[in-house]
Amino acid sequence: VRHLGKAYRRGGQDIPVLLDINLDVARGEFVALMGPSGSGKSTLLNLIAGIDQPSAGTIEIGGVDIATLGEGALADWRAANVGFIFQFYNLMPVLSAFDNVALPLLLTGLNARQRQERVAAALDLVRLSDRADHYPNELSGGQQQRVAIARALVTDPALIVADEPTGDLDRTTGEEVLGLLDEMVSQLGKTIVMVTHDPKAAARAHRMVHLEKGVLVDEAGG
Ligand code: ATP
Ligand code: MG
Repeated sequence: VRHLGKAYRRGGQDIPVLLDINLDVARGEFVALMGPSGSGKSTLLNLIAGIDQPSAGTIEIGGVDIATLGEGALADWRAANVGFIFQFYNLMPVLSAFDNVALPLLLTGLNARQRQERVAAALDLVRLSDRADHYPNELSGGQQQRVAIARALVTDPALIVADEPTGDLDRTTGEEVLGLLDEMVSQLGKTIVMVTHDPKAAARAHRMVHLEKGVLVDEAGG
């Protein structure tokens, strides 16, 4: 991330939210992004994931300056390269765990059989094979978040962005989810940028960075 700036345009005015952000994240690194409410953490994650456009600066991921991709190419790039995990899981209530995990694969060229194998493998990774037929309202919060992790992993993206993935979970369940994120880094070689308010969660990362009013402050990691 180089000289990244973001201002939201609202009521004829620019509201600056991110100011000249510079951040390098190595492949296979697990970075925790912390900072007060309103400091711009979600905004930064959305920019990194290509779901929002910067006002200034560049974001390069795996050698690709994502601003150079057109809208269609950006959507394809995102589907193949980035997995999202949200605080409130964002599962589709009318779909089973299996079908929720399968959703990102609909944008790929995989056939039904290949999709089925990928979903089964992803559910196995989060140890929820026995809940594949359950609907979100038939799952605990922690299980729903594990389904969301399986969904983020199913396309085998190099980069995972997680916005307060344990924010809605109790301590024990949060630890389980963090353990899964650890595994994604240590065993699958994923790169993770995770927003968290929880210092204990942040301590699981290789490195912490802090946002303060749209300015990034680096910190020694745990
Ligand atoms: P939290 O910890 O509460 O989730 P955050 O650090 O993720 O906070 P952001 O959601 O990135 O904060 O918001 C940063 C600032 O940008 C806030 O002041 C917010 O009001 C403003 N903001 C966010 N989205 C918009 C928008 N679409 N239009 C205008 N302002 C916005
Ligand atoms: Mg946020």
